[in-house]
Amino acid sequence: MIGEASPSLLRTVLIGVALIGLLVLFFQNQPAPVISGWGGSGSATIGERAGTIRGEANPIGAGLGLVTVPQGSPLGTVQAVMTQSYGVGSHAPAEVWGGVDLAVDSDGDGQADPAATMGTPIYATHSGVASVRPDTWPAGNYLAIVNDEYKTAFAHLERYAVEDGEQVQVGQVIGYVGATGQASGPHLHYEVWQRGVNTNPLDFGASTRR
Ligand SMILES: [Zn+2]
Repeated sequence: MIGEASPSLLRTVLIGVALIGLLVLFFQNQPAPVISGWGGSGSATIGERAGTIRGEANPIGAGLGLVTVPQGSPLGTVQAVMTQSYGVGSHAPAEVWGGVDLAVDSDGDGQADPAATMGTPIYATHSGVASVRPDTWPAGNYLAIVNDEYKTAFAHLERYAVEDGEQVQVGQVIGYVGATGQASGPHLHYEVWQRGVNTNPLDFGASTRR
């Protein structure tokens, strides 16, 4: 009797183990969760709420690893407008001051909303080392994120969320929008430099185009 029961028991155990194995494989192969909270995909644009990326973990703080090319909006998924475009007005000449000015448009009327803009979190658009320069003129509280190829610069910050020399990752909150330095109202001045050459941030997914 025991000789007959044991193979049956063994079969049951083996089938159980196989089922558990299949379940583990199933869940391991599920796609990573869609992360929202910043405008991190290359096609994400400022001015629309398309800023989601796929990642392996929460990008706020850690988990995505090194993303060396700037991508997406530094204001995340909030509705934003460009209040000064690249290479015009105070942004000329582009080689020196080239950047875009961004502000929050909380009601979607295409106009900057100063109250909603002030204090909005700013997200790193790539990994790098933080360079913190408070109280400069005309950039006010100035911040740059630098890696081997790219530098992104952020001006007029209300305050910082990182320290000078800190290694930051894409999606990490690095500061908050303000109106320090030469600014008529709260906005984020955002620059992208590639190997020392000023480039248009719109080429890196920061755009108000719809
Ligand atoms: Zn500006």
